[in-house]
Amino acid sequence: TKWVYTFGDGKAEGTADMKALLGGKGANLAEMSNLGLPVPPGFTITTEVCTWYTAHAKAYPDELAPQVDAALDHVAKLTGKRFGADHDPLLVSVRSGARASMPGMMDTVLNLGLNDRTVIALAAAADDERFAYDSYRRFIQMYSDVVMGLDHHAFEEILERFKEDNGYVLDTDLTAADWKGLIGDYKKLVEDELGRPFPQDPREQLWGAIGAVFGSWMNARAITYRRLHDIPESWGTAVNVQAMVFGNRGETSATGVAFTRNPSTGDKRLYGEFLVNAQGEDVVAGIRTPQDLTEEARIEAGSDKPSLEQLMPEAYASFIDICARLENHYRDMQDVEFTIERGKLWMLQTRSGKRTTKAALKVACDMVEEGLITPDEAVLRIDPAGLDQLLHPTIDPKAERRIVAQGLPASPGAASGEIVFTSDEAEAAKQAGRKVILVRIETSPEDIHGMHAAEGILTTRGGMTSHAAVVARGMGKPCVSGAGQVRVDEHAGTLTASGEVLKRGDRITIDGGTGQVLLGEVPMLKPELSGDFAKLMVWADAARRMKVRTNAETPADARAAREFGAEGIGLCRTEHMFFDEGRIVAVREMILADTEAGRRTALAKLLPMQRADFVALFEIMHGLPVTIRLLDPPLHEFLPKTEEEIAEVSAAMGVPASRLRERTEALHEFNPMLGHRGVRLAISYPEIYEMQARAIFEAAVEAAAKTGAPVVPEIMIPLVGIKGEFDYAKARVDAVAKAVEKEKRIQIAYSVGTMIELPRAALIADKIAESAEFFSFGTNDLTQTTYGLSRDDAAQFLGAYLKTGILEQDPFVTLDQAGVGSLIEIAAERGRKTRAGLKLGICGEHGGDPASVKFCETVGLDYVSCSPFRVPIARLSAAQAAL
Ligand code: ADP
Ligand code: MG
Ligand code: MG
Repeated sequence: TKWVYTFGDGKAEGTADMKALLGGKGANLAEMSNLGLPVPPGFTITTEVCTWYTAHAKAYPDELAPQVDAALDHVAKLTGKRFGADHDPLLVSVRSGARASMPGMMDTVLNLGLNDRTVIALAAAADDERFAYDSYRRFIQMYSDVVMGLDHHAFEEILERFKEDNGYVLDTDLTAADWKGLIGDYKKLVEDELGRPFPQDPREQLWGAIGAVFGSWMNARAITYRRLHDIPESWGTAVNVQAMVFGNRGETSATGVAFTRNPSTGDKRLYGEFLVNAQGEDVVAGIRTPQDLTEEARIEAGSDKPSLEQLMPEAYASFIDICARLENHYRDMQDVEFTIERGKLWMLQTRSGKRTTKAALKVACDMVEEGLITPDEAVLRIDPAGLDQLLHPTIDPKAERRIVAQGLPASPGAASGEIVFTSDEAEAAKQAGRKVILVRIETSPEDIHGMHAAEGILTTRGGMTSHAAVVARGMGKPCVSGAGQVRVDEHAGTLTASGEVLKRGDRITIDGGTGQVLLGEVPMLKPELSGDFAKLMVWADAARRMKVRTNAETPADARAAREFGAEGIGLCRTEHMFFDEGRIVAVREMILADTEAGRRTALAKLLPMQRADFVALFEIMHGLPVTIRLLDPPLHEFLPKTEEEIAEVSAAMGVPASRLRERTEALHEFNPMLGHRGVRLAISYPEIYEMQARAIFEAAVEAAAKTGAPVVPEIMIPLVGIKGEFDYAKARVDAVAKAVEKEKRIQIAYSVGTMIELPRAALIADKIAESAEFFSFGTNDLTQTTYGLSRDDAAQFLGAYLKTGILEQDPFVTLDQAGVGSLIEIAAERGRKTRAGLKLGICGEHGGDPASVKFCETVGLDYVSCSPFRVPIARLSAAQAAL
């Protein structure tokens, strides 16, 4: 087996596509060599050796050592230096490099091969003692730290003390003699601490470093990182051994890092820093202030330290040239590391650079313009989830964060305001022109007005699909949910977190992107949608097959969604319309009435209001499809809870409060989510759906007349598990349609379909499709019913499932493809067998989750529907899924 791949001098045994075998760093070093760029020669020990090493109790395959020797000989030939030689010795760096860059892996060791003998040879060859001993002290510190586990602080302390005693400020102030003396102290420290001397044999050093890299693949930090980022253990890491080039050889040498474009704005301007007479990570370590690369950047920063452009114009010119070549070759913005040794430039690393969403959009659009990539490639390069950053205010990264609690990042964006504990307070404060954060243990449908009034919502209980989270996302408001360490005492009007006691009216900030709760008002950055965003979305729309609709019931949401590009409403939850002021009493009247006549009286009051709701939505949607779900939630959500509320209803109905109290108790359910809700309400009280259907049809006629655009409502029956349930409800809807047609002397086009949100419905989808004209997968409930997991309560224990790895993802956030996904596939297939061309959509929270959208494409759904602020994410995800 070939375990070792060499590179250098304009060729390499590997290429950029061999990342699996050579790791990212090794593959790109090979690629740069092949391109003829100046890369110090070296070799890569493959990731397969790592796997072998792990599987064989830290042993190596027999062929490895001879292959490493041969590769070292090859490097010796290219450099004219020999490893461990007493004359002009070859020094190497040992660098780890997994397929994906991974913190937790072993740090790089530089200057390996130095010992008490070779350091003298190095000094002689370079004719520079100071440089040689500076390299040696760096090596002893790095090797002891990284390979032998002796913390680098101990060395730094010795150095600091020495500088203090001698009145030195910078490391560069130390002379050769100073370093020599310190090296003695360093070696003594190693021996004292570890009970053995610092290894002098270069070969022992080399194999020590190689073993440390492979060993670090299985250290705790790396294992945790892999688990969090879904990186399989089987990937392994590679080891790169590379001839050293020296940025610490005096004033004509330097080391630096750069992005070929600005990674926060995307501007096509080189962005980076360097240090003269320095090595390795001195630049990022912050020992000295690094200098700007370009004159332009230096002038902008008002720095009086010369730029690389001024200081080393030749090396700078070839660096600029190489950056351009790399961008053209990789067709992406690069993040590069380089070193200049006595005026000569060397490239040490390149990879595609991490960037903000804003920069990603700009770079992608610019590169299409430059002819470097196609629009489809541009679409594939943007992380859909990152679009959230653009659509909401975010906390200024420069701002100080005084974090008092950590909850779930339930709805993105950040907001500040005074603490209030009830929705009524929130509303009153808003009317008085004050900004508030609504803080509650959890929210319920009755808090809608408070949530509307608040800038953001903080709850101490509930997960990513708790009421607060779902509604906040729908409204595009920041929300942190399930902040368990926060204690709320509504009566005392206090909130306690991390030992801080905050009162009603105190200011806090929540960051719905991270789940943080912060003290005080923290500075924010406003969202800005650039022209690049619009451009990219046009390309995305051209690439996708699935339609994207929105979940909306208020005119404000519907309008926002259209601005974000929604192509209709996939879910209008009519019950949300029932909580508005002026309606809830009528709704309660309806529920508490014990006769059909009583219910009809109350429903008659609701009809005009409900009709007006639909007219508004139809007008905004202007002919786009609108799916309306008839009443779904358990009735208890509407029941009066306080004596005051009971009195209100009692006055409206002319029924004694005691009777209402009895009726309320009679309606109590132990398990309301599996109780009297959805189509079951229509079986008991068909007049409810009849009223809603009438409101819809009358509104359709009215809106079509007003706008001139035809309205074809899609009426959706929730929680169907039995075909008879659906047929029963549909018959009522059809009858109402006939009646309205007759009254208005007009034909009404409409369709009636169902939510698939019970496993039974998915399994008998072929039967249901005999009468249902469309399906919409209600994946919130379908996940809940498939797992038998209450989404209102799951947050309390799902955390443990994720931590232990029993679950990899919260199934309420990312669709469980194995279980819930199978039911969707079954329902889609069986439904379409009965009714070819059956329209299929998804309207759960998953409709805005990129991975779930991808799944929807593979099942062949016609559309996804999500909350308004997720519409752009869904459009982009749908495009990526189709490409
Ligand atoms: P990381 O993955 O943490 O960036 P690297 O392996 O890239 O670690 O090494 C860090 C730095 O060490 C490089 O940016 C470079 O400055 C320096 N370095 C690595 N190898 C060499 C080398 N052969 N010659 C000179 N400097 C090197
Ligand atoms: Mg590092
Ligand atoms: Mg690096």
